[in-house]
Amino acid sequence: MDNKMRDELLNLFRSKINRAMRYYLETCTRCGVCTEACHVYNSMGQTKYIAAYRHEIVRRLYKKYFKARGKIWPGFGEAKGLSDMTLEELFDAAYSCTGCRRCMVFCPFGIDTQMLMSIAKLMLIGANAEPEILTMLADTSIEKGKSLELFKESFLTGIKNLESEVVEKWKIEAGETAIPVDVEDADLLYVALAGAHSIIPAAVVFNAAREKWTLSFFEAVNFGAFVGDPTRTKLIMDRIIAEAKRLKVKEVCICECGTAYRVMKQLSGKQPFKVSSITEVQAGYIREGRIKLDKTKFTDTITYHDPCQIARNGGVIDEPRYILDNLTDNFRDLTPEPKYNWCCGGGGGLVALGDETLDFRMKSARVKVDQVKATEAKILATACENCHTQLSNLNDHYKMDVAVRFLSSMVADALLPQ
Ligand code: SF4
Ligand code: SF4
Repeated sequence: MDNKMRDELLNLFRSKINRAMRYYLETCTRCGVCTEACHVYNSMGQTKYIAAYRHEIVRRLYKKYFKARGKIWPGFGEAKGLSDMTLEELFDAAYSCTGCRRCMVFCPFGIDTQMLMSIAKLMLIGANAEPEILTMLADTSIEKGKSLELFKESFLTGIKNLESEVVEKWKIEAGETAIPVDVEDADLLYVALAGAHSIIPAAVVFNAAREKWTLSFFEAVNFGAFVGDPTRTKLIMDRIIAEAKRLKVKEVCICECGTAYRVMKQLSGKQPFKVSSITEVQAGYIREGRIKLDKTKFTDTITYHDPCQIARNGGVIDEPRYILDNLTDNFRDLTPEPKYNWCCGGGGGLVALGDETLDFRMKSARVKVDQVKATEAKILATACENCHTQLSNLNDHYKMDVAVRFLSSMVADALLPQ
């Protein structure tokens, strides 16, 4: 690595140092409390997957380049230089961490591994060493935001083709549209993922609840966040914010996508609309009596996997349980409790990398499989696309013998006529 590249990467590191980051970089006492917390370490038993070990790779650079002692006497405090080998270590640490923040809950100082890994991810982008596909997917989303007119017509045709399936599940009044798009002054803007599975069940429930809603032109997923690029993350988020403002909606409801929800909820700043997850919205409909569910629809035992970005990191823990209480008498919660729930092993962009990460994802999530098996449930519900894909892969790989279901689609299937 030449000096110019080193300086550029260190500038990227510097751009991430704020008060919170400095605290995370300077506080670790190496107490070891986080050792067992990481699902990757717990499943694979390799030291490099301990949270504090991952931090140490970033911290070594901090000590060398940003702390006085490291600059004067680089050997002091294990301050090591930035080299091509360090980049490989950073890649290994960052792209084996799902950003689930389970370790943070155990750490007595609340050190945030995801934040520390965001330094690694940004430096990897600077060195063109990030997983290229994630950047390409992020750029595609950004381009789509810039040229809405180009894809508008094909999007609307695709949506029209789904409407009959929505009406089949829930009859609408004459003159109403099954999947409204681009409706000004709607109460709620629903931001879905590409694919009928993310649109049809949600539309059915919105219509059953007589919601004044409209579907977003954009996909919820934020590949900028997966690759750890703050600029791309913001550009992707801003397309949706602009649309919500243009339509003057009161609420932006994010589909079952954990990262999309956390980004919109925590990074969008003060806006004239509130941000909610579809799980919160559907729980609200039940609470307000706007929809009723048939408890006889699902007779098998159901358990629920809390997506890390929605539950531990987003605070949506009671709502799915409220839905499940109304959906079944056979709910069996996972142990340990939601705050300490094991990550499914698919976050942080790992599922988006597909087969490339499949072997690692299967090996690193063995504890998740044990956790689900202990419930003896036959249905494994969740509320995140990434988790659903990863849990389905685990189900096949470990022959877990469960049906992996999206919670929102179970709500749609169990709707009672009112
Ligand atoms: S628990 Fe916190 S302080 Fe202890 S080793 Fe882990 S990160 Fe460091
Ligand atoms: S954030 Fe999750 S995956 Fe990353 S080190 Fe902590 S426990 Fe492991």
